[in-house]
Amino acid sequence: MVQLKRHNTLRVAARVAQLIRLRKGASLETIRKRLLQAKRVFILGGGSNVVLRDHHDATVLLIDNLGIKLISQEANRVIVQASAGEPWHEFVQYCLAKGWNGLENLSLIPGKVGASPIQNIGAYGVEVAQLIDCVQVWHWPTGRVQIWTAQQCKFNYRDSIFKHGSGQDWVVLAVRFNLSTSPAVRLGYADLQTQLDSQGIDKPTPSDVANAVTTVRQRKLPDPAHLPNAGSFFKNPVISRSQFTQLKSQFPALPQYPAANGVKTSAAWLIEQSGWKGKRIGAVGMHVNHALVLVNYADATAQEIAHVASAVSDDVNQRFGVRLEAEPMFW
Ligand code: NAP
Repeated sequence: MVQLKRHNTLRVAARVAQLIRLRKGASLETIRKRLLQAKRVFILGGGSNVVLRDHHDATVLLIDNLGIKLISQEANRVIVQASAGEPWHEFVQYCLAKGWNGLENLSLIPGKVGASPIQNIGAYGVEVAQLIDCVQVWHWPTGRVQIWTAQQCKFNYRDSIFKHGSGQDWVVLAVRFNLSTSPAVRLGYADLQTQLDSQGIDKPTPSDVANAVTTVRQRKLPDPAHLPNAGSFFKNPVISRSQFTQLKSQFPALPQYPAANGVKTSAAWLIEQSGWKGKRIGAVGMHVNHALVLVNYADATAQEIAHVASAVSDDVNQRFGVRLEAEPMFW
């Protein structure tokens, strides 16, 4: 049995039969033959967006391949390729140091490069989908390697093809990003602007933005190294305009943000209003400073985490008639 506690940021002590590392230069065919012998296969990157359960018959493929290379440079654009096992934040910092801009708002997101298209990670008004040129993918059951455009990845809010059905059999091997050598910072989020104002920066560089995002995140979010968590545990719900109007008349403080197909509101606000900010059942609770972050306070199991997540979601649904959807994948 292999213990996965150190491979997930919620620090759940789940066990599986076997763990195989996909390292740089590894033979995909050799790995494939081993995976074909397994009863079940799970693919794991940095473990920052999963709730792990014991699977005594499963094999985990741990994505550990490293490498960053400049593919092309034209006018003010660069195409940069990063292997899936590269730590995300270090990759963002590497790009900024090279003068390749665009990823700065996504600073300090935990996890690896390979998970960025799977979750379509987003923060402070930027989604990684906007910066992805293409993704190199491997269909482990058949051995096919393909290049998928951003369109083929079916990106959506914190979502992609890789999270659904047969899309889950494709392993992200590397991601190519389309970045800019001329800075164009995005400061639409209040917290980010306030942080830069407090530092007296009125014309921020991409590195200033990265530092400000890092400072805000460190202030607001618990560090998984000290308090195990998986970041935002629920997506912000998008509700119909008519439901929003009706709720707003009952709850005038209900936050509202633009969304393509309705009105986006704040999951954190709904959770807080339902009495869950800082509330705990046994080893699991919603963080005292950030209601959206579910915390494992002491050796919780996946079942205990799922129990609290359902209780939060049920309470929000009962009070507001809004169903929250979990961000992490449950194994
Ligand atoms: P916040 O700034 O307190 O805002 C609360 C929510 O309102 C956010 O989730 C954000 O939605 C939305 N929002 C705020 N300003 C907006 C604007 N100008 N336009 C559209 N939507 C707006 O949020 P926070 O919790 O401190 O997080 C800051 C950013 O980091 C957010 O983008 C958040 O998604 C991201 N983040 C992601 C994770 C994760 O694990 N996925 C964890 C922490 C933070 P959006 O979430 O849609 O941006």
